Amino acid sequence: MIQCAVLHITMLPPALRIALKLGRRRHRSSITSAAADAPSLRQSARTALPAAHFEPQRHYRHMQDGTLTIQDGKIIDPATGRNEVANLYVVDGKISSVQPPEGAPVISAEGLVVAPGLIDMHVHFREPGQTHKETIATGSQAAAAGGFTSVVCMPNTSPPTDDPSGVAWILDRARQTACINVFTAGAITRNLGGNEMAPIGSMVQAGIVAITDDGHCVQNHELMRRAVEYARMFDLAVLDHCQDYYLVGNGVVHEGHWSTILGLPGWPRAGEELMVMRNILLAELCGTRIHCQHLSSAGSVRLLRSARGRGVAITGELCPHHIALTDKTISSFDANYKMNPPLRAQEDIDALIEGVAEGTITILASDHAPHATFEKEVEFDQAPFGILGLETELAIFLTILLHREKAISLDQLIAMYTVNPAHLLRLRKGTLRPGADADITLIDPNREWVYEKEKSLSRSRNTPFDGKQFKGRAVRTIVAGKTVWELGTEG
Ligand SMILES: [Zn+2]
Repeated sequence: MIQCAVLHITMLPPALRIALKLGRRRHRSSITSAAADAPSLRQSARTALPAAHFEPQRHYRHMQDGTLTIQDGKIIDPATGRNEVANLYVVDGKISSVQPPEGAPVISAEGLVVAPGLIDMHVHFREPGQTHKETIATGSQAAAAGGFTSVVCMPNTSPPTDDPSGVAWILDRARQTACINVFTAGAITRNLGGNEMAPIGSMVQAGIVAITDDGHCVQNHELMRRAVEYARMFDLAVLDHCQDYYLVGNGVVHEGHWSTILGLPGWPRAGEELMVMRNILLAELCGTRIHCQHLSSAGSVRLLRSARGRGVAITGELCPHHIALTDKTISSFDANYKMNPPLRAQEDIDALIEGVAEGTITILASDHAPHATFEKEVEFDQAPFGILGLETELAIFLTILLHREKAISLDQLIAMYTVNPAHLLRLRKGTLRPGADADITLIDPNREWVYEKEKSLSRSRNTPFDGKQFKGRAVRTIVAGKTVWELGTEG
Protein backbone atom coordinates (compact mmCIF):
# COMPACT_ATOMS: atom_id res chain seq x y z
CA MET A 1 0.00 0.00 0.00
CA ILE A 2 1.40 3.35 -0.94
CA GLN A 3 0.33 6.55 0.70
CA CYS A 4 3.16 8.34 -0.83
CA ALA A 5 2.10 11.57 -2.46
CA VAL A 6 2.54 14.58 -0.24
CA LEU A 7 -0.94 15.42 0.96
CA HIS A 8 -1.45 18.80 -0.53
CA ILE A 9 -4.65 20.68 0.08
CA THR A 10 -5.23 21.30 -3.64
CA MET A 11 -5.45 17.53 -4.22
CA LEU A 12 -8.54 17.20 -2.03
CA PRO A 13 -12.19 17.60 -3.07
CA PRO A 14 -13.42 21.23 -2.74
CA ALA A 15 -15.77 20.60 0.21
CA LEU A 16 -13.04 18.92 2.27
CA ARG A 17 -10.61 21.63 1.25
CA ILE A 18 -12.82 24.32 2.74
CA ALA A 19 -13.40 22.27 5.87
CA LEU A 20 -9.67 21.74 6.32
CA LYS A 21 -8.85 25.39 5.75
CA LEU A 22 -11.40 26.35 8.34
CA GLY A 23 -10.06 23.73 10.68
CA ARG A 24 -6.47 24.92 10.23
CA ARG A 25 -7.47 28.52 10.81
CA ARG A 26 -9.31 27.59 13.97
CA HIS A 27 -6.44 25.46 15.15
CA ARG A 28 -3.95 28.22 14.54
CA SER A 29 -6.04 30.75 16.41
CA SER A 30 -6.36 28.44 19.40
CA ILE A 31 -2.55 27.93 19.43
CA THR A 32 -1.96 31.67 19.25
CA SER A 33 -4.29 32.38 22.10
CA ALA A 34 -2.77 29.55 24.11
CA ALA A 35 0.68 31.04 23.72
CA ALA A 36 -0.30 34.61 24.38
CA ASP A 37 -2.96 34.36 27.03
CA ALA A 38 -3.56 33.03 30.49
CA PRO A 39 -4.99 29.48 30.91
CA SER A 40 -8.48 30.82 31.61
CA LEU A 41 -8.49 32.68 28.31
CA ARG A 42 -7.18 29.59 26.51
CA GLN A 43 -10.07 27.67 27.95
CA SER A 44 -12.56 30.26 26.73
CA ALA A 45 -11.04 30.21 23.24
CA ARG A 46 -11.59 26.46 23.10
CA THR A 47 -15.09 26.55 24.40
CA ALA A 48 -15.88 29.29 21.91
CA LEU A 49 -15.56 26.68 19.16
CA PRO A 50 -18.55 24.42 18.62
CA ALA A 51 -17.66 21.02 20.12
CA ALA A 52 -18.84 19.20 17.01
CA HIS A 53 -16.14 20.92 14.97
CA PHE A 54 -13.46 20.69 17.57
CA GLU A 55 -13.29 16.94 18.08
CA PRO A 56 -12.91 15.80 14.43
CA GLN A 57 -10.31 18.48 14.00
CA ARG A 58 -8.30 17.06 16.88
CA HIS A 59 -8.48 13.67 15.19
CA TYR A 60 -7.26 15.17 11.91
CA ARG A 61 -4.46 16.89 13.73
CA HIS A 62 -3.25 13.60 15.16
CA MET A 63 -3.35 11.86 11.81
CA GLN A 64 -1.54 14.58 9.95
CA ASP A 65 0.92 15.87 12.49
CA GLY A 66 2.57 12.52 13.03
CA THR A 67 1.73 11.76 16.63
CA LEU A 68 1.65 8.05 17.49
CA THR A 69 2.96 5.24 19.63
CA ILE A 70 4.87 2.30 18.16
CA GLN A 71 4.20 -0.43 20.63
CA ASP A 72 6.33 -3.35 21.83
CA GLY A 73 8.86 -3.34 19.00
CA LYS A 74 12.55 -4.12 19.42
CA ILE A 75 14.09 -0.66 19.26
CA ILE A 76 17.57 -0.74 17.75
CA ASP A 77 19.28 2.65 17.58
CA PRO A 78 23.04 2.21 17.02
CA ALA A 79 23.65 5.96 17.44
CA THR A 80 22.70 5.71 21.10
CA GLY A 81 23.45 2.02 21.66
CA ARG A 82 19.80 1.38 22.48
CA ASN A 83 18.60 -2.20 21.96
CA GLU A 84 15.46 -3.13 23.89
CA VAL A 85 11.81 -4.04 23.52
CA ALA A 86 9.88 -0.89 24.37
CA ASN A 87 7.35 1.64 23.13
CA LEU A 88 8.56 4.42 20.85
CA TYR A 89 6.70 7.72 21.10
CA VAL A 90 6.25 10.22 18.30
CA VAL A 91 4.78 13.66 18.89
CA ASP A 92 4.34 16.19 16.08
CA GLY A 93 6.70 14.36 13.76
CA LYS A 94 9.56 14.10 16.28
CA ILE A 95 10.76 11.27 18.51
CA SER A 96 9.49 12.01 22.00
CA SER A 97 10.35 10.81 25.49
CA VAL A 98 6.81 11.51 26.67
CA GLN A 99 3.73 9.55 25.76
CA PRO A 100 1.43 11.07 23.12
CA PRO A 101 -1.96 12.33 24.29
CA GLU A 102 -4.78 9.85 24.68
CA GLY A 103 -6.45 8.93 21.40
CA ALA A 104 -3.29 9.12 19.31
CA PRO A 105 -2.85 6.14 16.97
CA VAL A 106 -1.00 3.05 18.18
CA ILE A 107 0.95 0.79 15.83
CA SER A 108 1.78 -2.68 17.10
CA ALA A 109 5.38 -3.64 16.34
CA GLU A 110 5.45 -6.92 18.22
CA GLY A 111 8.07 -9.20 16.69
CA LEU A 112 9.44 -6.35 14.57
CA VAL A 113 12.58 -4.27 14.73
CA VAL A 114 12.06 -0.53 15.11
CA ALA A 115 15.04 1.13 13.44
CA PRO A 116 15.91 4.73 12.61
CA GLY A 117 14.74 5.50 9.07
CA LEU A 118 17.27 3.95 6.68
CA ILE A 119 19.48 6.19 4.53
CA ASP A 120 20.65 5.20 1.05
CA MET A 121 23.42 7.61 0.13
CA HIS A 122 23.81 6.43 -3.46
CA VAL A 123 20.80 6.56 -5.82
CA HIS A 124 20.10 7.77 -9.35
CA PHE A 125 16.60 9.24 -9.73
CA ARG A 126 17.17 10.42 -13.33
CA GLU A 127 15.29 13.67 -12.89
CA PRO A 128 15.77 16.07 -14.60
CA GLY A 129 16.35 14.68 -18.07
CA GLN A 130 15.64 10.96 -18.12
CA THR A 131 12.22 10.65 -16.57
CA HIS A 132 11.37 7.65 -18.76
CA LYS A 133 13.73 5.70 -16.45
CA GLU A 134 12.73 7.16 -13.08
CA THR A 135 11.45 10.36 -11.48
CA ILE A 136 12.01 11.78 -8.03
CA ALA A 137 8.42 10.72 -7.26
CA THR A 138 8.72 7.09 -8.46
CA GLY A 139 12.24 6.74 -7.08
CA SER A 140 11.10 7.94 -3.68
CA GLN A 141 8.20 5.47 -3.72
CA ALA A 142 10.59 2.61 -4.50
CA ALA A 143 12.83 3.88 -1.68
CA ALA A 144 9.91 3.93 0.77
CA ALA A 145 9.03 0.36 -0.27
CA GLY A 146 12.60 -0.67 0.52
CA GLY A 147 12.45 0.88 3.99
CA PHE A 148 14.32 4.09 3.15
CA THR A 149 13.35 7.45 4.60
CA SER A 150 16.28 9.41 3.14
CA VAL A 151 18.28 9.13 -0.06
CA VAL A 152 21.13 11.04 -1.67
CA CYS A 153 20.77 11.55 -5.43
CA MET A 154 23.85 11.41 -7.66
CA PRO A 155 24.46 14.43 -9.89
CA ASN A 156 24.67 12.61 -13.25
CA THR A 157 21.24 13.85 -14.26
CA SER A 158 20.67 15.56 -17.60
CA PRO A 159 21.83 18.27 -17.39
CA PRO A 160 24.24 17.30 -14.61
CA THR A 161 23.67 18.78 -11.15
CA ASP A 162 26.72 21.03 -11.30
CA ASP A 163 25.41 24.47 -10.30
CA PRO A 164 23.18 25.96 -7.57
CA SER A 165 20.14 26.33 -9.81
CA GLY A 166 20.24 22.61 -10.64
CA VAL A 167 20.49 21.79 -6.94
CA ALA A 168 17.60 24.13 -6.09
CA TRP A 169 15.48 22.60 -8.86
CA ILE A 170 15.95 19.04 -7.52
CA LEU A 171 15.27 20.00 -3.91
CA ASP A 172 12.20 21.95 -4.95
CA ARG A 173 10.94 19.08 -7.09
CA ALA A 174 11.53 16.70 -4.17
CA ARG A 175 9.49 18.91 -1.84
CA GLN A 176 6.61 18.76 -4.32
CA THR A 177 6.69 15.12 -5.32
CA ALA A 178 8.74 12.92 -2.97
CA CYS A 179 7.32 11.00 -0.02
CA ILE A 180 10.71 10.70 1.71
CA ASN A 181 13.66 13.02 2.38
CA VAL A 182 15.57 13.55 -0.85
CA PHE A 183 19.05 15.03 -0.59
CA THR A 184 21.36 15.58 -3.50
CA ALA A 185 25.07 15.57 -4.16
CA GLY A 186 26.60 18.12 -6.52
CA ALA A 187 29.19 17.44 -9.21
CA ILE A 188 32.90 17.86 -8.51
CA THR A 189 33.54 19.16 -12.02
CA ARG A 190 31.45 21.10 -14.50
CA ASN A 191 29.38 18.86 -16.74
CA LEU A 192 31.09 15.91 -14.97
CA GLY A 193 33.83 16.57 -17.49
CA GLY A 194 36.80 16.24 -15.15
CA ASN A 195 38.42 19.46 -16.39
CA GLU A 196 37.06 22.41 -14.45
CA MET A 197 35.83 22.56 -10.87
CA ALA A 198 32.09 23.07 -10.36
CA PRO A 199 30.94 26.03 -8.17
CA ILE A 200 31.10 23.94 -4.99
CA GLY A 201 30.61 26.81 -2.52
CA SER A 202 27.41 28.06 -4.10
CA MET A 203 26.09 24.50 -4.42
CA VAL A 204 26.69 24.09 -0.67
CA GLN A 205 24.59 27.22 -0.11
CA ALA A 206 21.90 25.69 -2.34
CA GLY A 207 21.84 22.57 -0.15
CA ILE A 208 24.10 19.76 -1.43
CA VAL A 209 25.28 17.21 1.12
CA ALA A 210 28.34 15.92 -0.77
CA ILE A 211 30.22 16.20 -4.06
CA THR A 212 30.93 13.40 -6.51
CA ASP A 213 31.31 12.89 -10.25
CA ASP A 214 29.72 9.43 -9.83
CA GLY A 215 29.42 7.56 -13.10
CA HIS A 216 32.64 9.38 -13.93
CA CYS A 217 35.91 9.78 -12.06
CA VAL A 218 38.17 12.84 -11.96
CA GLN A 219 41.42 11.63 -13.54
CA ASN A 220 43.42 14.79 -12.88
CA HIS A 221 44.83 14.28 -9.37
CA GLU A 222 45.74 17.94 -8.96
CA LEU A 223 42.18 19.02 -9.74
CA MET A 224 40.86 16.36 -7.36
CA ARG A 225 43.19 17.67 -4.67
CA ARG A 226 41.83 21.22 -5.11
CA ALA A 227 38.25 19.94 -4.94
CA VAL A 228 38.99 17.99 -1.76
CA GLU A 229 40.63 21.05 -0.19
CA TYR A 230 37.69 23.19 -1.24
CA ALA A 231 35.21 20.69 0.22
CA ARG A 232 37.17 20.70 3.48
CA MET A 233 36.35 24.41 3.93
CA PHE A 234 32.65 23.46 4.05
CA ASP A 235 33.11 20.23 6.02
CA LEU A 236 31.64 18.56 2.94
CA ALA A 237 32.16 14.88 2.12
CA VAL A 238 33.83 14.00 -1.18
CA LEU A 239 32.50 10.77 -2.71
CA ASP A 240 34.37 9.05 -5.49
CA HIS A 241 33.51 6.50 -8.15
CA CYS A 242 36.95 4.92 -8.36
CA GLN A 243 37.90 4.18 -11.98
CA ASP A 244 41.18 4.79 -13.77
CA TYR A 245 40.15 5.49 -17.36
CA TYR A 246 43.45 4.48 -18.92
CA LEU A 247 43.60 1.10 -17.22
CA VAL A 248 39.91 0.30 -17.67
CA GLY A 249 39.66 1.52 -21.26
CA ASN A 250 36.47 0.18 -22.82
CA GLY A 251 36.16 -2.65 -20.27
CA VAL A 252 32.61 -3.75 -19.54
CA VAL A 253 33.08 -6.84 -17.31
CA HIS A 254 35.56 -8.08 -14.74
CA GLU A 255 38.88 -8.90 -16.41
CA GLY A 256 39.38 -12.60 -15.75
CA HIS A 257 38.26 -16.06 -16.77
CA TRP A 258 34.79 -15.09 -18.04
CA SER A 259 35.85 -11.99 -19.98
CA THR A 260 38.36 -14.18 -21.80
CA ILE A 261 35.90 -17.00 -22.51
CA LEU A 262 33.16 -14.62 -23.68
CA GLY A 263 35.43 -12.21 -25.55
CA LEU A 264 34.17 -9.14 -23.70
CA PRO A 265 36.56 -6.26 -22.89
CA GLY A 266 37.93 -6.61 -19.34
CA TRP A 267 37.71 -4.05 -16.46
CA PRO A 268 40.63 -5.01 -14.19
CA ARG A 269 40.54 -4.73 -10.39
CA ALA A 270 43.55 -2.43 -10.52
CA GLY A 271 41.40 0.12 -12.37
CA GLU A 272 39.49 0.62 -9.13
CA GLU A 273 42.37 0.09 -6.73
CA LEU A 274 44.54 2.80 -8.31
CA MET A 275 41.89 5.41 -7.53
CA VAL A 276 41.24 4.04 -4.05
CA MET A 277 44.99 4.47 -3.46
CA ARG A 278 44.86 8.00 -4.92
CA ASN A 279 42.01 8.89 -2.59
CA ILE A 280 43.84 7.51 0.43
CA LEU A 281 46.86 9.67 -0.44
CA LEU A 282 44.70 12.77 -0.96
CA ALA A 283 42.74 12.21 2.26
CA GLU A 284 46.10 12.05 4.04
CA LEU A 285 47.55 15.03 2.18
CA CYS A 286 44.50 17.25 2.66
CA GLY A 287 43.57 16.00 6.12
CA THR A 288 39.93 15.50 5.24
CA ARG A 289 37.50 12.70 4.51
CA ILE A 290 37.01 10.94 1.17
CA HIS A 291 34.47 8.19 0.62
CA CYS A 292 35.03 5.44 -1.99
CA GLN A 293 31.75 4.43 -3.58
CA HIS A 294 30.61 0.90 -4.54
CA LEU A 295 33.84 -1.01 -3.86
CA SER A 296 34.14 -4.26 -5.79
CA SER A 297 37.59 -5.74 -5.35
CA ALA A 298 39.58 -7.60 -2.69
CA GLY A 299 42.50 -5.24 -3.26
CA SER A 300 40.35 -2.20 -2.45
CA VAL A 301 39.45 -3.77 0.89
CA ARG A 302 43.15 -4.40 1.63
CA LEU A 303 44.08 -0.80 0.80
CA LEU A 304 41.25 0.60 2.90
CA ARG A 305 42.08 -1.67 5.85
CA SER A 306 45.67 -0.53 6.06
CA ALA A 307 44.84 3.17 5.53
CA ARG A 308 42.10 3.15 8.16
CA GLY A 309 44.51 1.34 10.46
CA ARG A 310 46.81 4.38 10.13
CA GLY A 311 43.92 6.70 10.96
CA VAL A 312 43.33 8.07 7.45
CA ALA A 313 39.83 9.55 6.99
CA ILE A 314 38.87 7.18 4.19
CA THR A 315 35.59 5.23 4.07
CA GLY A 316 34.15 2.61 1.76
CA GLU A 317 30.72 1.56 0.58
CA LEU A 318 29.30 -1.80 -0.45
CA CYS A 319 26.44 -2.41 -2.90
CA PRO A 320 24.35 -5.60 -2.69
CA HIS A 321 25.07 -6.94 -6.18
CA HIS A 322 28.81 -7.01 -5.50
CA ILE A 323 28.33 -9.74 -2.88
CA ALA A 324 25.21 -11.41 -4.30
CA LEU A 325 26.55 -12.21 -7.78
CA THR A 326 29.83 -13.21 -9.43
CA ASP A 327 31.01 -12.49 -12.96
CA LYS A 328 29.96 -16.02 -13.96
CA THR A 329 26.43 -14.60 -14.38
CA ILE A 330 27.52 -12.64 -17.47
CA SER A 331 27.72 -15.89 -19.44
CA SER A 332 23.95 -15.38 -19.92
CA PHE A 333 24.76 -12.17 -21.83
CA ASP A 334 21.90 -10.60 -19.87
CA ALA A 335 22.66 -6.88 -19.48
CA ASN A 336 21.00 -6.93 -16.06
CA TYR A 337 24.33 -8.33 -14.87
CA LYS A 338 26.24 -5.36 -16.27
CA MET A 339 27.36 -2.84 -13.67
CA ASN A 340 30.13 -0.36 -13.13
CA PRO A 341 32.31 -1.40 -11.37
CA PRO A 342 31.59 -4.92 -12.65
CA LEU A 343 30.59 -8.09 -10.80
CA ARG A 344 33.80 -9.86 -9.82
CA ALA A 345 35.06 -13.25 -8.61
CA GLN A 346 34.16 -15.24 -5.50
CA GLU A 347 37.43 -14.25 -3.81
CA ASP A 348 36.38 -10.59 -4.12
CA ILE A 349 32.99 -11.37 -2.57
CA ASP A 350 34.72 -13.14 0.33
CA ALA A 351 37.01 -10.15 0.89
CA LEU A 352 34.15 -7.64 0.74
CA ILE A 353 32.17 -9.61 3.33
CA GLU A 354 35.26 -9.83 5.52
CA GLY A 355 35.71 -6.07 5.07
CA VAL A 356 32.19 -5.50 6.38
CA ALA A 357 32.62 -7.97 9.25
CA GLU A 358 35.81 -6.32 10.52
CA GLY A 359 34.52 -2.74 10.08
CA THR A 360 36.72 -1.74 7.12
CA ILE A 361 33.63 -1.09 4.99
CA THR A 362 31.16 0.94 7.02
CA ILE A 363 28.38 2.00 4.65
CA LEU A 364 25.79 0.06 2.65
CA ALA A 365 24.05 1.60 -0.37
CA SER A 366 22.26 0.48 -3.52
CA ASP A 367 23.63 2.45 -6.50
CA HIS A 368 19.96 2.27 -7.63
CA ALA A 369 20.39 2.83 -11.39
CA PRO A 370 17.13 2.51 -13.34
CA HIS A 371 17.20 2.01 -17.12
CA ALA A 372 14.34 1.39 -19.54
CA THR A 373 13.94 -2.15 -20.86
CA PHE A 374 14.65 -1.11 -24.46
CA GLU A 375 17.96 0.42 -23.34
CA LYS A 376 19.10 -2.78 -21.63
CA GLU A 377 17.90 -5.13 -24.39
CA VAL A 378 20.83 -4.53 -26.71
CA GLU A 379 24.25 -6.13 -27.23
CA PHE A 380 25.97 -6.58 -23.87
CA ASP A 381 28.82 -4.17 -24.52
CA GLN A 382 26.38 -1.51 -25.82
CA ALA A 383 23.96 -1.66 -22.85
CA PRO A 384 24.14 0.95 -20.08
CA PHE A 385 25.64 -0.01 -16.69
CA GLY A 386 23.51 -0.47 -13.57
CA ILE A 387 20.46 -2.07 -11.99
CA LEU A 388 17.59 -1.26 -9.63
CA GLY A 389 18.43 -1.57 -5.97
CA LEU A 390 16.18 0.21 -3.52
CA GLU A 391 13.53 -2.47 -3.05
CA THR A 392 15.91 -5.41 -2.70
CA GLU A 393 19.07 -4.09 -1.03
CA LEU A 394 18.00 -4.45 2.61
CA ALA A 395 16.71 -7.97 1.91
CA ILE A 396 19.93 -9.00 0.14
CA PHE A 397 22.13 -7.70 2.94
CA LEU A 398 19.96 -9.30 5.63
CA THR A 399 19.94 -12.60 3.73
CA ILE A 400 23.70 -12.69 3.04
CA LEU A 401 25.41 -10.70 5.80
CA LEU A 402 23.11 -11.56 8.70
CA HIS A 403 21.48 -14.92 8.04
CA ARG A 404 23.85 -16.79 5.69
CA GLU A 405 27.34 -15.54 6.56
CA LYS A 406 26.59 -14.31 10.09
CA ALA A 407 29.20 -11.65 9.32
CA ILE A 408 27.61 -8.86 11.37
CA SER A 409 24.86 -8.30 13.91
CA LEU A 410 21.57 -6.63 13.07
CA ASP A 411 22.72 -3.60 15.10
CA GLN A 412 25.82 -3.29 12.91
CA LEU A 413 23.81 -3.68 9.72
CA ILE A 414 21.41 -0.94 10.82
CA ALA A 415 24.35 1.31 11.76
CA MET A 416 25.70 0.96 8.21
CA TYR A 417 22.40 2.34 6.90
CA THR A 418 21.78 5.02 9.54
CA VAL A 419 24.32 6.58 11.88
CA ASN A 420 27.32 5.87 9.61
CA PRO A 421 26.06 7.66 6.45
CA ALA A 422 24.46 10.39 8.60
CA HIS A 423 27.81 11.03 10.27
CA LEU A 424 29.76 11.03 6.99
CA LEU A 425 27.35 13.49 5.35
CA ARG A 426 26.61 15.50 8.53
CA LEU A 427 22.88 14.77 8.18
CA ARG A 428 20.66 15.33 11.19
CA LYS A 429 19.17 11.90 10.59
CA GLY A 430 19.81 8.27 11.45
CA THR A 431 18.83 8.13 15.14
CA LEU A 432 15.79 7.62 17.37
CA ARG A 433 17.06 10.05 20.01
CA PRO A 434 14.26 12.20 21.51
CA GLY A 435 13.94 15.38 19.48
CA ALA A 436 15.10 13.73 16.23
CA ASP A 437 12.86 13.65 13.17
CA ALA A 438 10.51 10.68 13.50
CA ASP A 439 11.89 8.83 10.46
CA ILE A 440 11.43 5.18 11.35
CA THR A 441 11.68 1.84 9.55
CA LEU A 442 9.91 -1.24 10.86
CA ILE A 443 11.79 -4.37 9.81
CA ASP A 444 10.85 -8.03 9.96
CA PRO A 445 14.34 -9.58 9.80
CA ASN A 446 13.02 -13.13 9.44
CA ARG A 447 10.23 -12.70 6.92
CA GLU A 448 10.71 -14.90 3.86
CA TRP A 449 9.48 -13.44 0.61
CA VAL A 450 9.97 -13.52 -3.14
CA TYR A 451 10.78 -10.34 -5.07
CA GLU A 452 8.62 -9.77 -8.13
CA LYS A 453 9.85 -7.01 -10.38
CA GLU A 454 6.39 -6.41 -11.86
CA LYS A 455 5.28 -5.14 -8.45
CA SER A 456 8.14 -2.65 -8.28
CA LEU A 457 7.24 0.97 -7.61
CA SER A 458 10.20 2.09 -9.70
CA ARG A 459 9.52 3.21 -13.26
CA SER A 460 12.10 0.72 -14.54
CA ARG A 461 12.44 -3.08 -14.36
CA ASN A 462 16.18 -3.68 -14.82
CA THR A 463 16.96 -6.15 -12.08
CA PRO A 464 18.64 -9.57 -11.98
CA PHE A 465 16.75 -10.46 -8.77
CA ASP A 466 13.27 -11.11 -10.17
CA GLY A 467 11.81 -14.26 -8.57
CA LYS A 468 14.61 -14.51 -5.99
CA GLN A 469 13.77 -15.53 -2.45
CA PHE A 470 15.04 -13.43 0.47
CA LYS A 471 14.86 -13.52 4.23
CA GLY A 472 14.07 -10.19 5.90
CA ARG A 473 12.53 -6.95 4.70
CA ALA A 474 11.05 -3.63 5.75
CA VAL A 475 7.32 -3.77 6.49
CA ARG A 476 6.54 -0.12 7.21
CA THR A 477 8.27 3.17 6.44
CA ILE A 478 7.51 6.28 8.48
CA VAL A 479 8.71 9.80 7.61
CA ALA A 480 8.24 12.60 10.14
CA GLY A 481 5.76 10.41 12.00
CA LYS A 482 3.63 9.63 8.94
CA THR A 483 3.44 6.21 7.32
CA VAL A 484 4.49 6.64 3.69
CA TRP A 485 4.56 2.93 2.83
CA GLU A 486 3.27 -0.23 4.42
CA LEU A 487 3.58 -3.83 3.29
CA GLY A 488 0.25 -5.10 1.97
CA THR A 489 -1.18 -8.44 3.03
CA GLU A 490 -0.05 -9.98 -0.28
CA GLY A 491 3.63 -9.37 0.56
ZN1 LIG B 1 29.33 4.92 -9.73
